[in-house]
Amino acid sequence: MSATTAPDTVSVSSAADALKIVPHPHPALRRKAQPVTEINAALRRHVSEMFELMYAHEGIGLAATQVARPWRLFVANPTGDAEEKDQEQVFINPEIVRRTGSETAEEGCLSLPQLFGDVRRAQRIVVEAFDLNGKLFAMDLEDLPARVVLHEFDHLDGVMFPDRMTPAEKAKAAPKLADFEHAWTKAQKNGEIPSNRALLKEFEAFKL
Ligand SMILES: [Zn+2]
Repeated sequence: MSATTAPDTVSVSSAADALKIVPHPHPALRRKAQPVTEINAALRRHVSEMFELMYAHEGIGLAATQVARPWRLFVANPTGDAEEKDQEQVFINPEIVRRTGSETAEEGCLSLPQLFGDVRRAQRIVVEAFDLNGKLFAMDLEDLPARVVLHEFDHLDGVMFPDRMTPAEKAKAAPKLADFEHAWTKAQKNGEIPSNRALLKEFEAFKL
C-alpha cells in the first residue's frame, strides 16, 4: 500500500536479477500466492530487499506478489519511515482471524502509482502470521495499520484495491486503470516486456 502522496514511478534500476515492483496488469498480481515452507537465507534477503523497495517508493506495505514472487508474505511499516525499524513487521503465511467494525478511507498501491480511491474495510482486525524466526505471532490492529494488513493480505489472493471500491469510485478509477493496461500492452507489443504467459511461467518457477 502506498501513502497517499506516492511518487509517480515504479521503475527500479539496479542489478538485472534484483527485485522490482511490478505494475498493474502484470499477471503475477492476479495469482494466489503459495504458503512459505522454509524460512531461509534467500527469503531473508528477499524480505530485506522488499523493505528497501517499499521505502524507496514511499510505501507503507508491500506484498511478495508485487515483486512477482509467488509466496504468501508481505512487509509493512505504517509509518513509512525507514528510521522507525521498530515499526517494521514481516508477515509470513498470514491469516486474518478476526475482523470487526467498518471504516472507509482512501488507499493507494505501489502497483498502481497515482491511483487513489476510497475502500471500505474492517476497522479492527486480529492477524496471525509467522515472523522471520519462524515464530507465530498475533497482532490486534486498528485503523491504518489494520488497513495496510488487509490491503497486503488481499494481494496474496490476487485481489487489488480497486476491486473493493464502490461502483462510483471504480468508475472514477476506470480511465487510469485503462491507461495502465494500455501502457502494458504497448510495452509488450514493442518487446519491452515478455508476454503474460512467459511472465507467469517465470513467476511460478521461483523457488526459495
Ligand atoms: Zn497494493
